[in-house]
Amino acid sequence: MSNIPKEIVKKLFEDQSAKLSCPQCKSTNVAKILHGLPVMSPELQKDLDDGKVVLGGCTVFENMPHHHCNDCDTDF
Ligand SMILES: [Zn+2]
Repeated sequence: MSNIPKEIVKKLFEDQSAKLSCPQCKSTNVAKILHGLPVMSPELQKDLDDGKVVLGGCTVFENMPHHHCNDCDTDF
């Protein structure tokens, strides 16, 4: 039995699930896909160079993937 309040356990669980990992290979080397046309800035360029962000193009669909795995190239 644990004495940790349910609320805190729930919070911890939510924090963990908020940390993204690839559904295919479980990698956390995941980039955010930017949809639409972003305003280019030195910060954005650095994120692109670092593989933290990829550009999804200017066409926006419903239920389109928002993340890209850098390890197995899966969009999810
Ligand atoms: Zn992956």
